[in-house]
Amino acid sequence: MRITCPYCGARNLEEYTYRGDATVKRPESIEETARDAWIDYVYLRDNPAGLHKELWHHSAGCHAWLEVTRNTTTHEIVAVEPAAKGAEKRSAEER
Ligand SMILES: [Zn+2]
Repeated sequence: MRITCPYCGARNLEEYTYRGDATVKRPESIEETARDAWIDYVYLRDNPAGLHKELWHHSAGCHAWLEVTRNTTTHEIVAVEPAAKGAEKRSAEER
């Protein structure tokens, strides 16, 4: 699998480190009533079949954090963008 870093171009998977689901949202409340939300945030992840947004770190390259949209069944990568840009888009969609 090759990932095309927006800054470095296409590079082999060995240059990257998978850093998790890009869609999890940190609970805003720290109150006891948000306990279940925190357990979900820290411990529970979906295991989707199909398109999924993931965080990857270009650890042996430019050290950029990337949001990669990947089909988990075929490993086809359909989009790569800087992670901050993806987070901004999701935040804007929630407003
Ligand atoms: Zn890079």
